[in-house]
Amino acid sequence: MAKPKVASVWLEACAGCHMSFLDMDERLVELFKNVELAYSPISDVKIIPEVTVGIIEGGLGNEEELHIAKTLRSKCEILIAWGDCAVNGGINCMRNFMKTEDVLKEAYTDTVTTVNPTGVLPHVDIPALLPNAIPVDRAVKVDVYVPGCPPDADTIAYVFNEILGGRSPKVPASMMRYD
Ligand code: SF4
Repeated sequence: MAKPKVASVWLEACAGCHMSFLDMDERLVELFKNVELAYSPISDVKIIPEVTVGIIEGGLGNEEELHIAKTLRSKCEILIAWGDCAVNGGINCMRNFMKTEDVLKEAYTDTVTTVNPTGVLPHVDIPALLPNAIPVDRAVKVDVYVPGCPPDADTIAYVFNEILGGRSPKVPASMMRYD
C-alpha cells in the first residue's frame, strides 16, 4: 500500500517548529517507513503535490503566504496548524499595532544597520503585506491544532501517531507545558 504523503510549509515563522520536527531524531526513521515527505523546506520540490497531510508552520503576513496556505489547503485532506505562529499568529502579530508603512520603514530604512540613502521602499519582487499578520485559520480551515513555541518533538510524534492510527489528534494539556 502506498504511504500517505505529507507536505509541510514554512511561512511567517522562525523555522523553530521544523527544527523541533528534526528533534524527533531516530523516531524519524520509523516515521519515514510509514509516510512520504513529499514537500517541505528540507526538500527541493517546487510544486506542492496532492497529499494526505498538510502542515503549516507560521502565521500569514503577506500575499505569498496567503496563497501558499490556500494552495496547501486545496491539496491536502488534513491540515495541521503547527506551532503558536500558525495556531494564533504568534510573535508575528506584534506588528499589528503599527501601520504597515511604518513596519516597512523599520525593515528597509530606519534600522541602524540599514544603508538606504534614497529612503525608497522596495516594491518589486516582494509580496505585499497583509493589513495584519493572522493565524492560519483566519484564512483557511484547519483540522488539527498543535500549539507550542515550538511544539516539542514528543508532541509532534504524538500527532503523527494519532493520524497514522486513523484518529484526529487533540493535543492533551499535559503536552502543552514544560514541567
Ligand atoms: Fe518559531 Fe515559535 Fe513560531 Fe514555531 S511557533 S515558528 S518556534 S516563533
